[in-house]
Amino acid sequence: LQSLEQMQEKIIFDAEGLVPAIVQDAASKEVLMMAYMNKESLKRSIESGETWFWSRSRQELWHKGATSGNTQKIVSAHYDCDGDTLLFLVKPAGPACHTGETTCFYRGITSPALAAKGAGEDADLERHRFAVLEELEQVIAQREKERPEGAYTTYLFDKGVDKILKKVGEETAETIIAAKNKDNAELRLEVSDLIYHLLVLLQERKLPLDEVMAELDRRHERPRRD
Ligand code: AMP
Ligand code: ZN
Ligand code: ZN
Repeated sequence: LQSLEQMQEKIIFDAEGLVPAIVQDAASKEVLMMAYMNKESLKRSIESGETWFWSRSRQELWHKGATSGNTQKIVSAHYDCDGDTLLFLVKPAGPACHTGETTCFYRGITSPALAAKGAGEDADLERHRFAVLEELEQVIAQREKERPEGAYTTYLFDKGVDKILKKVGEETAETIIAAKNKDNAELRLEVSDLIYHLLVLLQERKLPLDEVMAELDRRHERPRRD
């Protein structure tokens, strides 16, 4: 990792003083948007930890999310081999696109050749392996807030933390039994029940799944990059 000063020398700004910056969701790895940065917006991004760009249409510094609230917390910043492109991995507060779409790249292009290769429609919608955990976390948070009638999650939150803990205990016991019985069909169901109830518990305790993932990540040794 390099400091701002070291980095700025190696980045090539074009004739207008701009460099393209790709913004990617740190969790889903979805490419969210591309916009331009000048020296000042790059400096502000690195120093504030949120993305700033140069708006070519408005000819002004642009703090992403300043009006929409959809700011982007920077998780990492890189520049490419020849220094002409930046890459930011972010945690977005909301949709990156001003149309309200999660990503600016929501419109696909196809052709007979691409379609024949099986590319197209669903390929770009492919979810990362654990996307369902994040989606489930969001649904559970929404249930806690809105308490829709008849939902099992609403019932758990209404009953309170002791009920949730009791369920975690039960599902743990059932997981053990399924494993002891060497019944993987049953084990799949029980582990799913357990994970769901753990997510409800995390929501009740206001401990984001991200913090659990970060803890796992810290424990997990990986080859280091510079
Ligand atoms: P925001 O930065 O999200 O508060 O949006 C402010 C304005 O910036 C919008 O009205 C758009 O004109 C522009 N804008 C926001 N997001 C994007 C984007 N992903 N790509 C291009 N322009 C954008
Ligand atoms: Zn390049
Ligand atoms: Zn857009």
